[in-house]
Amino acid sequence: MSTYDVIVIGSGPGGYVAAIRCAQLGLKTACVEGRDTLGGTCLNVGCIPSKALLHASHMLHEAEHNFAEMGLKGKSPSVDWKQMLTYKQSTIDTNTKGIEFLFKKNKIDWLKGWGSIPEAGKVKVGDEVHEAKNIIIATGSEASSLPGVEVDEKVVVTSTGALELGKVPKKMVVIGAGVIGLELGSVYARLGSEVTVVEFLDAITPGMDPEVQKTFQRMLKKQGLEFIMGAAVQKTEATKTKAKVHYKLRKDDSEHVIDADVVLLATGRKPYHDGAGLDALGIEMTKRGQIAVDDHWATSVKGIYAIGDVIEGPMLAHKAEDEGMAVAEVIAGKHGHVNYGVIPGVIYTHPEVASVGETEATLKEAGRAYKVGKFSFMGNARAKAVFAGDGFVKIIVDKETDRILGAHIIGPGAGDLIHEVCVAMEFGASAQDLAMTCHAHPTYSEAVREAALACGDGPIHM
Ligand SMILES: Cc1cc2nc3c(=O)[nH]c(=O)nc-3n(C[C@H](O)[C@H](O)[C@H](O)COP(=O)(O)OP(=O)(O)OC[C@H]3O[C@@H](n4cnc5c(N)ncnc54)[C@H](O)[C@@H]3O)c2cc1C
Repeated sequence: MSTYDVIVIGSGPGGYVAAIRCAQLGLKTACVEGRDTLGGTCLNVGCIPSKALLHASHMLHEAEHNFAEMGLKGKSPSVDWKQMLTYKQSTIDTNTKGIEFLFKKNKIDWLKGWGSIPEAGKVKVGDEVHEAKNIIIATGSEASSLPGVEVDEKVVVTSTGALELGKVPKKMVVIGAGVIGLELGSVYARLGSEVTVVEFLDAITPGMDPEVQKTFQRMLKKQGLEFIMGAAVQKTEATKTKAKVHYKLRKDDSEHVIDADVVLLATGRKPYHDGAGLDALGIEMTKRGQIAVDDHWATSVKGIYAIGDVIEGPMLAHKAEDEGMAVAEVIAGKHGHVNYGVIPGVIYTHPEVASVGETEATLKEAGRAYKVGKFSFMGNARAKAVFAGDGFVKIIVDKETDRILGAHIIGPGAGDLIHEVCVAMEFGASAQDLAMTCHAHPTYSEAVREAALACGDGPIHM
């Protein structure tokens, strides 16, 4: 039996970051992970593999659609799916091995196996029980299920199965027009699949700025994705190679069936804490099955903390990482802090979609007076040069003070551009502060500046 200052359960972005920060702060740290590799959902079956496939399929799209116009001649590349999966796996391996290296460098013990907490202050892994003054639960999440839809990870798959299909399907039906469904749906659409997205609501990407939602759906349609909106999936019927998706249109209750070679169930994720022994410990949970924590990520049991997808808040890797750093600082007696008002969300399709802070809808609901500054990428020289003029930057500011309250971007590099606004928001900046900052030409970031100018006397290039 070993004794630690901190044992972290789960090595996803929440857990591994917490472990590294604890070790950096001088705490004797171990991390329990049941998978064969470190890095959690994000590195193994989430952010990283999906971005590898998005990148590869985007390259194909560029070759097919834009090369000829730029004077690049020759046949477009064809898809070697096996090689694409090898590339995806090598990206995963480099990253998971990177975490292993960081654990060694920071002298963090990787306790291999599934961990449980038999009592406060103890973590059981296999037959061994380890003592820990503090325990951090970072066990993450798993794909949500849908009644009537039986997942076999071959024909009816979650995102995990969708990242390692045997071949590119001819017809794919995606259930759910959220981030994961649209990212993976657009991967397969670019690789040649006929992709139909079936969504319960009337708009894609719930919670996002409505103008962005509309523009995004229009762009995805242009790329070949089809949408059936307001449709409640009733059930799937699958053989070894095909499936049928039964759905009912909410507007008239009419029943329909659609055929697919692969069905991707992408209706969200739910917290995962099976086998960790939380019931016996009496840890308080929220109504939605998350571990309840206070402002310092402490659970209802002394010495046990929880972070990441297993607690409330957006299920995002960077939110988990921030909580990982903050909880380590709290345990070390410092002032860990996460600003939940400034957590960006990014969709890595082409173009990218990114948002941070308030939307017009949330501000209207709160009865707050606001102003909007908007700038189209059509007025951005760099974007036009790379066929990326479709899309816009929208900045929302407080009407009285000009303080930036939120931003919504759809267009080239949106996932990087959003961070300029995040930093501005962290510093409590006004749109004028952003507008007065010199931006290099020609860059996409000039569109952010122009949107900030649009909050005041107006943009220049529009
Ligand atoms: C397809 C897909 C794409 C995504 N893309 C993005 C993206 O682009 N950007 C983004 O921000 N987020 C993305 N996400 C979400 C992101 O992966 C999660 O928000 C993030 O991984 C949460 O981190 P975590 O540390 O809370 O948990 P996880 O990453 O889920 O890690 C939890 C780990 O704990 C381990 N574990 C669980 N129970 C035990 C136990 N009892 N003992 C030992 N080990 C245990 C699990 O094996 C797992 O490795 C994506 C998710 C998916 C599925």
